[in-house]
Amino acid sequence: MKSSRYNYYFDAGGGRRGVFNTFTGALSVLTPEEEAFLKNYSGRETDFEIEPFVKMGYIIQDDIDEKAIVDFDRNYYSLNNRAVFRILTTTYCNASCYYCYEAGAPLVHMTLETAEDVCRFIIERTKPGELIKVEWFGGEPLLNQEAIDYITSRLSGNDFSVVYTMASNGLLFTPDVVCKAKNTWNLERVQITIDGLEERFNEIKKAPGIENPFRRVCESIRLLSEAGIAVSVRIHYNDNKDELLRLIEYFAASFSDCRNIFYYFHPLYKNEMSVARDIVADLAELNEALVRNGLSSFDEIYGFTYKLGRCFATRHNSFTIAPDGRLYNCSHNLDDGNVVGSVTDFSIYNAKRLKFQNPALSEACADCVFLPICQGGCRAAELKIATMRQCFLFKEGIELALRQMIKEVTIMITIKEPNTHQAIKNGSLQSNESKVIIPVSDLTTCHPDDCWDCDNCGGPKTH
Ligand code: SF4
Ligand code: SF4
Repeated sequence: MKSSRYNYYFDAGGGRRGVFNTFTGALSVLTPEEEAFLKNYSGRETDFEIEPFVKMGYIIQDDIDEKAIVDFDRNYYSLNNRAVFRILTTTYCNASCYYCYEAGAPLVHMTLETAEDVCRFIIERTKPGELIKVEWFGGEPLLNQEAIDYITSRLSGNDFSVVYTMASNGLLFTPDVVCKAKNTWNLERVQITIDGLEERFNEIKKAPGIENPFRRVCESIRLLSEAGIAVSVRIHYNDNKDELLRLIEYFAASFSDCRNIFYYFHPLYKNEMSVARDIVADLAELNEALVRNGLSSFDEIYGFTYKLGRCFATRHNSFTIAPDGRLYNCSHNLDDGNVVGSVTDFSIYNAKRLKFQNPALSEACADCVFLPICQGGCRAAELKIATMRQCFLFKEGIELALRQMIKEVTIMITIKEPNTHQAIKNGSLQSNESKVIIPVSDLTTCHPDDCWDCDNCGGPKTH
């Protein structure tokens, strides 16, 4: 037996130590003696009872190679995971957010001829019985509803199933549009970004013809929620913690009766490997407020789950499709130099495609204790072709989040099993009841369908 390479030790607060195993998701409070034992465990006879540590995956069999499993999954799922088609119906937008990464991109509306080519491209690549995902993107995707009408209608009636989601600024969801989104487009989830309270939000959106964009977006959130369409509210952090604390109270008062709204905070994009610790500390405080106000749970917010692979953009069968039919790996780098083909002319051997999908890890990632919950992070950031961070959002202050999770579980007095990785479950890693461990969550392995930045990886579990 040996210690897991994925034990992450941290200060659990109140003079306690903690260990989080990024491979199994087990999280425990330890005595200093237990920590020293785990760190120095050499497989020799000991007075310590090792069963609880084995159960959580802190101690594993000698013949288990966790890193090889993580690498295998990343490679396997880049070739075998669900296809995602991120379709930009237009690059036009009815808002003018100063931070938009598409600023300067050519303004193009998808024509119905291109929409037909897009459908053919998708249908050719999808096998009978498959479940694929279509993400409506823009610009503001609702500015080209004809393209959505056309593509959803053309993709229905085939021998495969489609899950539809959308990233929208939320300004165009009238009752009629929401009705169509639910009943005709089968829209399951919408991501809407909020930048602050009314004054800041309206100043940033600068949406001509809309009297009060903040009110309009809040109405959209309610309409969508009442129609049974889940809403991911992505709240931008830009050194405005106090304002966002008030925003949380506003949401708690406005949407306490809505069950399918998920909130998460996200700092504005910067060219950094990871988000600075003082920002993570602010985000942790904001997350605490979300939980205190009954809007979320720490488990849901942090989602420190085993990742089967990187985001959809690194998968061989997944694409970002621009309104003119050009193909990209990722929607965060839509300039001519990153085109990898078009819906009428594409080769799987495109050099930029192969470079983007290369599953090899940098040295830093290969040795990183967080690899199982990160899988190398944002590929566009790693290649320096997008203004993004590479590491997962909470890396620089993860112990702040882990302390919150421990506290939540302690309060709930909930003892659950960690979700031990399937490969381990099928192997020899089995044991009896735990004595010293507080497993925090009934973690499920994540299907990283969504953008690292946009959704799950830095935010809540939304599916
Ligand atoms: S991207 Fe950062 S956190 Fe993720 S595995 Fe690499 S070094 Fe670790
Ligand atoms: S995580 Fe990075 S590479 Fe993946 S879609 Fe998002 S920006 Fe692109």
